[in-house]
Amino acid sequence: MARYTGPVCRQCRREGVKLFLKGDRCFTDKCAIQRRNTIPGQHGMGRKMAKEYGFQLREKQKAKRYYGILENQFRMYFEQADKKEGITGENLLTTIERRLDNVVYRAGFGASRREARQLVRHGHFALNGKKANIPSIILKVGDVVTLRARSKDLARFNEVAAELEGASATLPKWLTINVNDLSVTVNALPQRDDIDFEIEEQLIVELYSK
Ligand code: SF4
Repeated sequence: MARYTGPVCRQCRREGVKLFLKGDRCFTDKCAIQRRNTIPGQHGMGRKMAKEYGFQLREKQKAKRYYGILENQFRMYFEQADKKEGITGENLLTTIERRLDNVVYRAGFGASRREARQLVRHGHFALNGKKANIPSIILKVGDVVTLRARSKDLARFNEVAAELEGASATLPKWLTINVNDLSVTVNALPQRDDIDFEIEEQLIVELYSK
């Protein structure tokens, strides 16, 4: 599957905001946005005033980069969201929130979405008891994601139970962690308020609706 392989922090610098793509580093003063918040490239020293299309484009790029999704898949999520009842922009974000890789990240298994996606791809998780290694699976209410038995003994997961216990306080209310069997249950559909990312999704809708 295609994915972005360029410099990670460059994406934040292009959007001018922290997208939290590098885990712990994002919370230190090594963060590139804190050190040099300019558009990358030869002409990037200033930030020009964007016009309407520019604002819409930037919001879309910001959301894609935040969740690590490429254009075709992002547009597919938009088309699905547009067909559903309710507010299209909210449908878009709340659907993407339910991706398996995002749930693994939200639950605290990975320091970043990128890492969480890699853990999923490497087959460390089961969905409702069956191995699930496709990061884009959209979870439903009642789905249970579990760290597979063979992965629980791996060094990188040795301290995961303690970390997850700490993570339960910051967990979105639509997810529940069971630290005994290292499982995460989707107990409700996420709502727009549950998404702590500053994004004006209506601008994305306007862009795709042209
Ligand atoms: Fe973005 Fe994190 Fe890099 Fe900072 S450290 S620029 S938040 S990816």
